[in-house]
Amino acid sequence: MVVALRRRYARVMLNLRSSAGKAVLLGILASAAPATANPPAHHTETGRFTNPYVEQSNGGVFAFLKRRLFGKDDWSDYDRHRDGSVPTAAPRLVNDGEQTNNARVTWVGHATVLIQHAGVNVLTDPILSRVASPVAFAGPGRKSAPGVDAQGLPPIDVVVISHDHYDHLDEPTIRFLGDRPRYFVPLGLKQWLVDAGIDPSRVVELDWWEEQTVDPGGSALKVTATPTQHVSGRTLTDRNKRLWAGWAMEWDDFTVWFGGDTGYNDVQFKDIGDRFDGFDLGIIPIGSYAPRAYMHNYHADPEQAVRIHQDIRARRSMAVHWGAFHLTAEPLLEPPELLRAAVREAGLPSEEISAYAVGESRAYFPF
Ligand code: ZN
Ligand code: ZN
Repeated sequence: MVVALRRRYARVMLNLRSSAGKAVLLGILASAAPATANPPAHHTETGRFTNPYVEQSNGGVFAFLKRRLFGKDDWSDYDRHRDGSVPTAAPRLVNDGEQTNNARVTWVGHATVLIQHAGVNVLTDPILSRVASPVAFAGPGRKSAPGVDAQGLPPIDVVVISHDHYDHLDEPTIRFLGDRPRYFVPLGLKQWLVDAGIDPSRVVELDWWEEQTVDPGGSALKVTATPTQHVSGRTLTDRNKRLWAGWAMEWDDFTVWFGGDTGYNDVQFKDIGDRFDGFDLGIIPIGSYAPRAYMHNYHADPEQAVRIHQDIRARRSMAVHWGAFHLTAEPLLEPPELLRAAVREAGLPSEEISAYAVGESRAYFPF
């Protein structure tokens, strides 16, 4: 059992390397739950956020990037494995007006997933840009083009955003999507979207376990923010000022959990599995895990991704957050390889949790 510690995690800055339509009204059927009287364990006294189940802090991502960018270490061993191409496939999207009974899920790339079900188009952590950075001319560049480009996207009804890191929250993509979608964001992130030009009435900002139901086109979709174990920050001064979250999305006959970026602990994901009684589909990150000494608190490795899949009790999971932005030290194509080994090791059928090709669409029948 992991002991809950309220430890303020210091010096984490994932993005250091880059230091750098017509609105469709969605019917709001329920409001966010009221705040609890005592501040939850993930709120700090200074108005920032923390992880209740991180046992110890180390230099973390910041220290790793500092060493990598400014240190004298030889990184050629890591860089040597950077070649190779990420598998791609032609998307098969549900077209406007097309009747289908199943849910269609397409990997756009990185943590961007298009979920199409019951006439509702949901996009997770949308980034279509060539770099994950504050500026277009510098920063980690894409190793694989998005599987669906901006013109190829269907009209988006709902966007869920897990946290503010550049590879999950991309200003050009948000500006392109504009005021049409309803945006679900974790606590503290609404103002960023408003500053990016999004109509405040289109943004729903939630704390962990808060929910709101929307009804685009007559199909009710309940969206709930859930815990994850991560950090946030886009500059040197806004560390952990905005919360991070996963998102549970529940239609009548199909349920999905999207994990964003997260490390593993043996409490929060079991809790999510229990509260929702499992999911039809998990969308779970498997990349950005190396080196473990720096990354283990905030990025699950493939073996831990399998544990998350089991803890949330997903029938199937898709493995994301690899193959697009090479942010950390593992070889670009290693995450799905290690995932296959971890799935085998766990004694699960290979199709239960698997990586897609970029652009690949799969159909999930209501169970
Ligand atoms: Zn992140
Ligand atoms: Zn990320």
